[in-house]
Amino acid sequence: MPLLKFICEDCGHIFEELTSADKKPPCPKCASPRVARCYQGKCFFGASGSSKGTGGGCSGGNCIGCSGCS
Ligand SMILES: [Zn+2]
Repeated sequence: MPLLKFICEDCGHIFEELTSADKKPPCPKCASPRVARCYQGKCFFGASGSSKGTGGGCSGGNCIGCSGCS
């Protein structure tokens, strides 16, 4: 399994987890299931979408304000 990088949409905590590519672990800090996957600097928010988008693009490594990179 790959080591994937995630960012919590609720608290912004960034963590890495060995997990399947189609699974999202809950945030280890606040236990929120709303986590976004970061892959090679890009983040993919879940089906629930993000209400925290600021209109800016992905800042790379700090994607909490990103509403979804293409
Ligand atoms: Zn969290």
